[in-house]
Amino acid sequence: MAGAYATIANDGVYREPTFYTRIVASNGSIVLNSEAHKRKAFSETVAYVTKKLLVQPVEGQNGTATYCAIKGMEVAAKTGTTNEDFDRWLCGFTNYYTTVAWFGYDLSERIEYSGKNPAGEMWANVMQKVHTNLENSKFKEAKDVVSVEICKDSFMRAKSSCKNTYTEYFLSETEPGFCMKH
Ligand SMILES: [Zn+2]
Repeated sequence: MAGAYATIANDGVYREPTFYTRIVASNGSIVLNSEAHKRKAFSETVAYVTKKLLVQPVEGQNGTATYCAIKGMEVAAKTGTTNEDFDRWLCGFTNYYTTVAWFGYDLSERIEYSGKNPAGEMWANVMQKVHTNLENSKFKEAKDVVSVEICKDSFMRAKSSCKNTYTEYFLSETEPGFCMKH
């Protein structure tokens, strides 16, 4: 899961997850170097649109992960729940780190809790701490992405007569047509 989310954070480049980067002997010689296997999985443009989608759970009006916000950072995050409430997930990233938290039992059992998603709470605690003293950072805009005002009643491109609107990002030339309700 972390490998998948890191691919979005890395602008579409997938890097095979590894448990170590290198092993160094006490005399300084390198015993093992982890070879980084990587490949392009999707375009920078698709990555950017996906990032903007994933910012909504943190910054959106009805966000499910608003407690994952980090001061000065643009944060992408997605909560997850499986059938019967057996698993709780929080997957997300900034320009600095991708972190994935899972909460559950080895043998599936319903998770009972009150308040925040426990995976999300772990995620937020760790991520807020590791970002202390790092420079503010927002996701870099990609070319060929357009931001469009959308009408909440028709989910089409808003006209001046549409009152209830929000912003969405599209690959250029895939944006919807104008609202036909207003
Ligand atoms: Zn409208």
